[in-house]
Amino acid sequence: MVTGSFYLFLFTFAGVYLLAAMGFNVLAGYMGIISLAHGAVVAIGAFTTAILTVTYGWSFWPAAVMSTLVGGAVSGLVALPALRLSSWYFVLITIAFTTAVTAVITDMKWLTGGFTGILGVPPPSIAGHKFSGREMFWLVMVINIAVWWVISNIVHSRIGWSLLAIRDSSISALSNGVSVSHTRLFAFVFAGATAGLAGALFAVLKIVVTPEDFPFHFSIFFLFVVVLGGPAYLWGPLLGVFAFYVLPEMLGSLREYRMLIYGVGLLAFSIVLPEGIAGGLVALRRRYGASSAKKQSAQRTVSQITHAIRPIEGVALKVEDVSKTFGGVNALSNVTISVPAGHIHAVVGPNGSGKTTLLNIISGLYEPSGGDVRLGDKRITGLRPHMIARAGVGRTFQTPKIIGHLSVLENIRFGAYHREKSSGLSIALSLPSARREAEELTREATELLALVGLSDRAYDRADELPHGQLRLLEIGRALVGRPRVLLLDEPAAGLSLHELERLEELMIEIRRLGVTLIMVEHHVELVMGVAQSATVLDGGKVLAAGTPEQVFADKAVVSAYTGAPQ
Ligand code: ADP
Ligand code: MG
Repeated sequence: MVTGSFYLFLFTFAGVYLLAAMGFNVLAGYMGIISLAHGAVVAIGAFTTAILTVTYGWSFWPAAVMSTLVGGAVSGLVALPALRLSSWYFVLITIAFTTAVTAVITDMKWLTGGFTGILGVPPPSIAGHKFSGREMFWLVMVINIAVWWVISNIVHSRIGWSLLAIRDSSISALSNGVSVSHTRLFAFVFAGATAGLAGALFAVLKIVVTPEDFPFHFSIFFLFVVVLGGPAYLWGPLLGVFAFYVLPEMLGSLREYRMLIYGVGLLAFSIVLPEGIAGGLVALRRRYGASSAKKQSAQRTVSQITHAIRPIEGVALKVEDVSKTFGGVNALSNVTISVPAGHIHAVVGPNGSGKTTLLNIISGLYEPSGGDVRLGDKRITGLRPHMIARAGVGRTFQTPKIIGHLSVLENIRFGAYHREKSSGLSIALSLPSARREAEELTREATELLALVGLSDRAYDRADELPHGQLRLLEIGRALVGRPRVLLLDEPAAGLSLHELERLEELMIEIRRLGVTLIMVEHHVELVMGVAQSATVLDGGKVLAAGTPEQVFADKAVVSAYTGAPQ
């Protein structure tokens, strides 16, 4: 296809853009960060290579490595405000950053040549042989294939799932043991590194680099390519570069209308293809094609996982004198609860009595205004949520928080995030040790999928599940993290009668695995059926505590529930 020099040039550039776009997909597509700084990082990469080769006489190879490192480092710095700011402020910062980069490049004439830029960037060479245009094309292709492979390894691993979890619900990422700040930093550095490397190749292809090569809409271009190509799809950037770069260039006259095409594309896509071209194709295949997913149903016993959980002896969880105020509201006042190991402990109380707040304090999402939480004899008050998850506290949410983009099995598998020991590098390079560990954990996730009764939906997208099954999915996800204490927030809400029976059995099975359960529940029969102990909250205070029979017979409790006088 690449015979004429026009096409050779066109496809080589498309490869350079694809490289930067693939990296940007990790940041914007998978992690959902809207940045308008990506083009500026490409510019920095291009100028780094141009300056090092032309001014300092470096050869291309070390210069390209330097561009990659500088791109990663600069992008990492841009990330720092993103860790704190809301996404809209962050977008403004990236706009300011891009404007500043152009201004600095134009101003620092002694280094960058100002408006005229840097001329005569030499091509790469090996043993004195300078790369021709065709060899450049192949170099770009080889780099793209390598980066594609690395990204493919990453996005099909716990790293990619943690990116999606942060995008869809950073709370679920935290409660599965993900350090959100580290993961964010990784995505920025990775995206920046691909942009820096793309910049190095860009400089060589252009031979002359000037600030004008990087207008503001260059950054917008990458956003379009990723968002319209199909965010969080491996093929998205390829389809996006083809639709928004290659096609307009091939149709010559369309080039002038690029911004108009982007605008109309955005409008049309937001209505017709909310998941971009790649998402649309996948949906088409699901609807009309043979489902490529292997349907399997794993019916394994759970005995194999029994050994895996380290039960806690004595008191599993202790909440001591915990209070929490929100502004003037006392959501919890001096609450003390002691949950013996191996119990199913029910936390009962009317709406607004502080039950969810209690779970949020135990799992570290809220810091208590006073008091302490202990897991076994370890004090966990004030630990960050992902550390509490790693210490052995799993949880589900009143409103299930799942990764809709992933399959049911992958969602459950994600719960093993903090148990996976393979380094990011061994995952990115798909080393045998990393693959073995991943397979092992996937097998365990498959078993738990069977335990919660979702085997037949293993390969369906999680967001296609009805509400009741999402609750079961969340339980499976928490279990694969091997919690010692499992917190369930209204697990029975919205379940059918059949599902309710299943849940009851499931909780008894989980208890047999050695997990201590704390469940927030209104459902009196369910509590009576499975719980060994219960605490009743009312208005943030403990109203009664004891066995379920005791608390439901308590006069104060009856009165709080029925409004009957004591
Ligand atoms: P429950 O789960 O028992 O229905 P919650 O724990 O959700 O109750 O809420 C207890 C009280 O704390 C309510 O009055 C609620 O409005 C308040 N509350 C809970 N979370 C927050 C928050 N993040 N900010 C302000 N108020 C909150
Ligand atoms: Mg609640």
